[in-house]
Amino acid sequence: MAHLAVNPWIPFAYLVAGVCFILALRGLSSPATSRAGNRYGMFGMTIAVVTTLVTHEIASLPEIIGAIAVGGVIGFITARKIKMTDMPQLVAAFHSLVGLAAVLVGLAAYLNPIAFGIAGADGIIEPQSRVEMGLGIAIGAITFSGSIIAFLKLAGKMSGSPILLPGRHVINLGTLIAILGLVGYFTQDQSQWIIVTITVLSFLIGFLLIVPIGGADMPVVVSMLNSYSGWAAAAMGFTLHNTAMIITGALVGSSGAILSYIMCKAMNRGFLSVIAGGFGADAGAGGGAGGAPKEQRPWKRGSAEDAAFIMKEAENVIIIPGYGMAVAQAQHVLREMGDQLKKHGVNVKYAIHPVAGRMPGHMNVLLAEANVPYDEVFELEDINGEFAQADVAFIIGANDVVNPAARTDKSSPIYGMPVFDVDKAKTVFFIKRSMGGVGYAGVDNDVFYMDQTMMLLADAKKMVEEINKALAD
Ligand code: NDP
Repeated sequence: MAHLAVNPWIPFAYLVAGVCFILALRGLSSPATSRAGNRYGMFGMTIAVVTTLVTHEIASLPEIIGAIAVGGVIGFITARKIKMTDMPQLVAAFHSLVGLAAVLVGLAAYLNPIAFGIAGADGIIEPQSRVEMGLGIAIGAITFSGSIIAFLKLAGKMSGSPILLPGRHVINLGTLIAILGLVGYFTQDQSQWIIVTITVLSFLIGFLLIVPIGGADMPVVVSMLNSYSGWAAAAMGFTLHNTAMIITGALVGSSGAILSYIMCKAMNRGFLSVIAGGFGADAGAGGGAGGAPKEQRPWKRGSAEDAAFIMKEAENVIIIPGYGMAVAQAQHVLREMGDQLKKHGVNVKYAIHPVAGRMPGHMNVLLAEANVPYDEVFELEDINGEFAQADVAFIIGANDVVNPAARTDKSSPIYGMPVFDVDKAKTVFFIKRSMGGVGYAGVDNDVFYMDQTMMLLADAKKMVEEINKALAD
């Protein structure tokens, strides 16, 4: 590949693209600025792609445009067709492609190092390029196979329960050490068997690392794979001598790692124990496998009219949305309900748990789409102290994130995850479709059976529409 490194516009353009990506991340950190953040990201990516296309003789332009068109059409159709609730598995599937791309670029560079500008005329690859290539292929392969397993688990095509191999920690550690050892040896010996073995072992370890992780820890896995895909891209950026790829990869890698850490904290999971695999396995994390509540306990059924009457009279109502709101697409009618209650002088707040729904920020996105004012939306730690003063906790399609077993039941797969203290509210309305259905972790919830709880059993959108009608009467 001919590098026109002498042209000072190239690093400058990549630098501008890098600054745009940083502004994009900054914008995406708050719903209020996320649209601007996305625009910065798109602008930066346009600069990066155009600069790469006009300055590198990688392949003929028609070939590249043809490949972009095919990929773009597939991506466009997939994104249009995908339901919001299936987003996590789509993200996992896309991460797998980033990983695979890193492996393919690495192998292409190995097979034709002169074209990639990393070897002299004798075809001997520079030692530092061998390290970058080896690590890039290894991280890419781990991302690929790990993401495939995450996709299968999230899509319900494979059991969400942890699958535990005996001695898995020893096998994993041994395989990782072997990969690192081979990358080191690769700097001395350029033989094909080494790079092939690194690739195969890395595919294997990606599989081994994710298979033992239970469904309850999947949010962390998704953001961790996001981070891996970034590091794979950064390593390939070194191989390709492409600054934009290095910057972008490092940004994705580090922001994904920070998000994983934040999510671990939110779920009270040890970061290392999640990535070592099999955390929560002994407790039998359900991962959506589910099962009906075992006990038959008394519970109260409420109606839309009950909910409208009590909420109209309330001073403070806290709404807790969860995955079921996304399934029912109830966010718009929910915002109308909030508006109506405000007209009755009720103080309405929305409480968002960091792992509510099926992807990070899931609830924030839906509430923003429905134009819920940002100043009415609160994070777990900012609102949890307010349930004791709340007249109503209105749970719409949430379940695990309000389950007190997380505080009290050491045998529960969600034990240790901070949850909303809805049991402290005077009245609890709990919308779900049936008493049989469970949350993602597949466990029963004591909130259903509390004295102050009224179950509103229906599709979330239908129920809220009825409440809105009753509020308007
Ligand atoms: P849960 O998955 O715990 O519960 C969903 C609830 O919604 C159930 O009670 C279900 O009951 C109800 N529901 C489903 N469809 C409808 C509908 N159409 N109308 C009304 N209710 C409906 O959701 P939470 O948001 O509380 O918890 C998220 C869980 O997902 C956590 O365990 C988290 O760890 C996990 N997770 C989170 C990810 C993330 O990044 N946020 C990623 C992957 C997993 P019923 O079937 O009876 O209607």
